[in-house]
Amino acid sequence: MPSKRKFLKQAQKVAFDYEHRQKLKHNIGKYEIAVEKGLLRYKDFEKARDIASAIKTDVVNNLDKYLDEFARNFEKNGGELIIAPDANSALAAVERIVKQVDARLIVKSKSMTTEEIGLNEFLESFGVEVVETDLGEFIVQQAGEKPYHIVTPAMHKSKQDVARLYHEKFGLPEDADVHQLTSFTRGYLREKFVKADIGITGANFLIANIGAIAVTENEGNALMSVSFPKVHIAIVGIEKLLPSYKDLSLFWQILANRGTGQSVTVYNSLILGPKKNVEDNGPERMIVILIDNGRTELLAQKEQKAALKCIRCGACLNACPVYRTIGGHTYNSVYSGPIGSVLMPFFGGFKEYGYLTFACTLCRKCEEVCPVRIPLPDLILSNRRDYVEKYKLSSSGERVAMKAFEYSLTKPKFYEINMSKVKNAFIRLIQNWFWSKYRDFPQFKTPFRKQFKHKKSN
Ligand code: SF4
Repeated sequence: MPSKRKFLKQAQKVAFDYEHRQKLKHNIGKYEIAVEKGLLRYKDFEKARDIASAIKTDVVNNLDKYLDEFARNFEKNGGELIIAPDANSALAAVERIVKQVDARLIVKSKSMTTEEIGLNEFLESFGVEVVETDLGEFIVQQAGEKPYHIVTPAMHKSKQDVARLYHEKFGLPEDADVHQLTSFTRGYLREKFVKADIGITGANFLIANIGAIAVTENEGNALMSVSFPKVHIAIVGIEKLLPSYKDLSLFWQILANRGTGQSVTVYNSLILGPKKNVEDNGPERMIVILIDNGRTELLAQKEQKAALKCIRCGACLNACPVYRTIGGHTYNSVYSGPIGSVLMPFFGGFKEYGYLTFACTLCRKCEEVCPVRIPLPDLILSNRRDYVEKYKLSSSGERVAMKAFEYSLTKPKFYEINMSKVKNAFIRLIQNWFWSKYRDFPQFKTPFRKQFKHKKSN
């Protein structure tokens, strides 16, 4: 169970882990250079953002209409559709399919939605082998960890870390180079692709007008997960809709640009149901499980529903000074960084994840980079307000302190009094209490009004 206390403790520890900071700095630094170059390819990137934002706003405002359209067209294509109101019903649906085909081995491509419902642990609990096939996901799975970042799951690991891990797990030389590591992984996964009974993927987009799922990836592993096994299950959040396949020309580019800095990701697939009679290859069954899991509750929020526009590019994580300091695992939640702070209270409960609404400095950098113009800092503040007011989760000490603060700010006479010594003592108290021993605070000397008057008269 995540908790604010655990979060703060871990954040304190990780923030001062120099090696960890160096790895993050190195990886995010490479990303920033690539994104900067990528932006040069656009004539007018701001216009592209405006259009992307307008399309996703339309989707959020007409979600039921686009869902109906997708469902109708996908079933026409021979696909099977399951609506899962929550994580448990999605897991139960997967279990039914696994039992129908007596599956023993499942290959999976990267999908945060499956992380959200705890799919791997669930399948393993009744003896099914699940193999992650995205290289980053494979690495964190072998390390027994959760993805560190929504786009780059092993961002926190250096080449040396991976070599050490492969040495322990598979007996490769401790100083194996990148070529050795990737060739080994390729060989290992090829065997799994061929033998797998089911392939599970997510989807970057659901295309309403043709009833297809769009998957974008760099390694071809999602394509392999779909092509070899007889059954393909795609587990997707209901908000991933786009009205038309024509929208992909913008969204595939903008996602790649903001996600990794590429002009377009290496493999982009549109999957329109199971294989047709005239086709030789492909899965005999394709099932899409559409997950709600808190999304309709989010949709009902006047402000926070804008978070449903998210295309999971990860740019807000890379830009966030909090994420860059404490790293992905510290959040102790499937989605981390600014977008995680907005989504998690709805996907996992305010009581459990409300503490994430405080993991923000309100610097607004995330809003600056978001390709679909989600006003993340405002949404974080809305969540923070709901956490405190609606769920009555603020402590009585905090409420008293806020009342005193409010009182003092509404009485100018009060703060005009020169009480530097009292103020300094108070600040020291706060500093020692929760401001942490690592930060300094300038001492109060002359009241601002006095300084101002003095400056004006000179
Ligand atoms: S909120 Fe915006 S920047 Fe963050 S992951 Fe979603 S689309 Fe990307």
